Amino acid sequence: MMRVRSAWGLSTKIKLLIDQSVRVGLPGHCAFCMGMTPLAAPWCEACFEALPWNRVACVRCAEPLARPAELCGHCLRHAPSFDVARAPLRYEDATQALLQRFKFGAQPRAGILLATLFARSREGVLPEALIAVPTHPQRRRERGFDHSVWLTRELSRQLGVPHLRAWRERDTPTQRGLTRRARRDNVRRAFRVASGLPAHVALVDDVMTTGSTLSALADACREAGAQHVEAWAMTRTPRGI
Ligand SMILES: [Zn+2]
Ligand SMILES: [Zn+2]
Repeated sequence: MMRVRSAWGLSTKIKLLIDQSVRVGLPGHCAFCMGMTPLAAPWCEACFEALPWNRVACVRCAEPLARPAELCGHCLRHAPSFDVARAPLRYEDATQALLQRFKFGAQPRAGILLATLFARSREGVLPEALIAVPTHPQRRRERGFDHSVWLTRELSRQLGVPHLRAWRERDTPTQRGLTRRARRDNVRRAFRVASGLPAHVALVDDVMTTGSTLSALADACREAGAQHVEAWAMTRTPRGI
């Protein structure tokens, strides 16, 4: 974590210090409503329950669905390269604000909360390694830090699972505004990971939209030896565009 922090700019470091002082100064307060919480819990029960939980979703890609179904229409037509996606929260309201505080406001407390919400709702066998989705270099420069590496390190710390790095093979244009098919073509063969990966790995990103980036990274992981690949996103957009 320190290595990422040391790479941040001065303004980011100042924000970090302010955020840390707020965190230290407000123990026992809910991160969402600032109300009192028992035993220094990070949130109150009412705010936790009110979060946009992604409970009715595609079992393969975690796309939120209107009613229970095994697979969404996209996965029926073209299954992603990862085996299963885990995205406990929908990207809306409170989670959208939290993510923006983390990514654009560089508030570590928001990042810790996102990772904690994910880690506490995760079930099943833990993977042998976590791999951050490499951030687009332009986005990393704009924000002053690599948000997906930061989240991966925090999850690694909380879950006790080691993390490995992946790289962008080439600078793909940003995914913003592209159709689902264009996104898939855009990221095809875009990533490289070190060979000899463990059999079971999880890829980590903050928000998952169509899953095309995670799917392309899953392809690279399979070529590097992984057999079971999970896609972990802290939040999932309501509908892939
Ligand atoms: Zn609250
Ligand atoms: Zn699906």
